[in-house]
Amino acid sequence: MQIIFLGTGGGRNVLINQLRGTGGFRLVGSRIIHCDPGPGALLRCKQFGQNPEKVDIIAVSHNHLDHANDANLLVEAMTECGKRRRGAVVASVSVLEGNERFDRALTRYHEVMAEKIFALRAYEKAEFGSVTITATTTAHGDEEGVGFIFEMDGVRVGYSGDTEYFEEMGKEFEGCDALIMNTLQPSGGKIPTHFGTDGAVRLLKALERKPKVAIIQHFGMGMLKAGPETEAAAIQEATGVRTVAAKDGMAVPAGETEKKAGEKKLTEFEG
Ligand SMILES: [Zn+2]
Ligand SMILES: [Zn+2]
Repeated sequence: MQIIFLGTGGGRNVLINQLRGTGGFRLVGSRIIHCDPGPGALLRCKQFGQNPEKVDIIAVSHNHLDHANDANLLVEAMTECGKRRRGAVVASVSVLEGNERFDRALTRYHEVMAEKIFALRAYEKAEFGSVTITATTTAHGDEEGVGFIFEMDGVRVGYSGDTEYFEEMGKEFEGCDALIMNTLQPSGGKIPTHFGTDGAVRLLKALERKPKVAIIQHFGMGMLKAGPETEAAAIQEATGVRTVAAKDGMAVPAGETEKKAGEKKLTEFEG
């Protein structure tokens, strides 16, 4: 399985100025999952050689624009603009149903285009074909937001979603092959409700069964200034877990391929 990053930006400045893309990431294995299709997800698919129509599951962690903006577009791509009812949308309750603060992000018009819709709260599971997705807890501005554990082809990929670090977080991400952490800010960063290098270190240290590879992404201005590669090296140094700073268009092998490939085989798409 490959994890393909279609945007590694996060935070208002990086989003609005597209200093890094905000298209989310894809897990490409026997099925294709597109997670957190933020602004430009469709364009980044085209830019990085991903066919937007080739997607089986669209996963949306929470109802912030940098994660949910292009979800409706991707549903149209997945279903031939509603001609073929297929695929699944797996998302937080806030994304699918809305609440007092948020309008629903997936429209009623698009909801019926997908074969299945799963509105998940933390610890709930969605099973679609051979893929299992479990929602994890977050502490973030969208209180109903979630993270995900994706299980496909015998590979387990954890995704923190947007969250600050909290004590019990480790329990939810034990035994992942790859762990993707939305690490908005560098070491010492003080922005609330978001992870930084310090949170990443704490989470990895808290895990008894550590991931084979940790990936940081969803970078804000502070992180871009500090240098994501430098921060990734610091995380690796502090935890002993191989840590990669994702770049737009980067493909990171996870699971079986990961064991064979190693760091040197990381490929970057052109564009
Ligand atoms: Zn975000
Ligand atoms: Zn957010």
